[in-house]
Amino acid sequence: MTDGINPLHSLDDWDDDLLRRYPRDSEPRHGKSTEEFRSYDDAADHVKEFYRLNHRQQTVEVNLQKREQFLKFEKRQMGIWEAMEYLNTLVDDSDPDTSLSQIEHLLQTSEAIRADGHPRWFILTGLVHDLGKILCLFDEPQWCVTGDTFPVGCQFDSSIVYHDFFQENPDYSNPEYNSQYGIYEPNCGLRNVMLSWGHDEYMYNVCKPFLPPQGLAMIRYHSFYPWHSEGAYEYLMDDFDHQMLEYVKLFNPYDLYSKSDAPPDIKALKPYYEDLIHEFFPPQLSW
Ligand code: FE
Ligand code: FE
Repeated sequence: MTDGINPLHSLDDWDDDLLRRYPRDSEPRHGKSTEEFRSYDDAADHVKEFYRLNHRQQTVEVNLQKREQFLKFEKRQMGIWEAMEYLNTLVDDSDPDTSLSQIEHLLQTSEAIRADGHPRWFILTGLVHDLGKILCLFDEPQWCVTGDTFPVGCQFDSSIVYHDFFQENPDYSNPEYNSQYGIYEPNCGLRNVMLSWGHDEYMYNVCKPFLPPQGLAMIRYHSFYPWHSEGAYEYLMDDFDHQMLEYVKLFNPYDLYSKSDAPPDIKALKPYYEDLIHEFFPPQLSW
């Protein structure tokens, strides 16, 4: 999988880099200078190359094209559990001894949410949040599947990891897109904003008819680190987004910090999750 187009050895290399950038007991960043917290310079070279490809190619034009390509949902018909098993067929160069399978990450996230006594829709959101990574199995390059997300069509906020790489993005020097608001109105609401394309935006659209707004926000914004962890883009938010931000922040630690050495017992957990899936989703969904 590793080549010039796909520099990550494993799709999870980006998730692992998040742990470097946001270690478990890090203090909240708001109100502190970015330099106090970050030395992004020390991402491994292949991860840095991934950020470069992502920032260079996530444009408005690409975004519109990806929506056109994937939001007709003409690729496959699958139930949720089947999609989890399908995602698990993703083969990459990750070390099988140290890395979790995709199903294991999903179940560890949902089990951590369940252990804290949260509502059933929240547990289910944890279970499905990364299923959009099946985009990789539709031959999408890594930069179009994973990574921090950010709005396209307006100025790229300086808090976005490796912001300098945006200089290679054609939208960076396009006057239509490079002002603070770009193509958007002040406080227009994030639902009216195009976020960079990836597994989050795709899965949000798959789930739209089936999950409550809080769960949908957790899915759509879970990689939107410049927003939920750096406090950027407040000028695009409306009141609803302020409410949703609290839920996204509640979700984030379960995604980042639920990884444990003890792999979940997939077989034992399956009946519980089959019931939960059935409560919210139809037996077959369009992907
Ligand atoms: Fe994710
Ligand atoms: Fe995740």
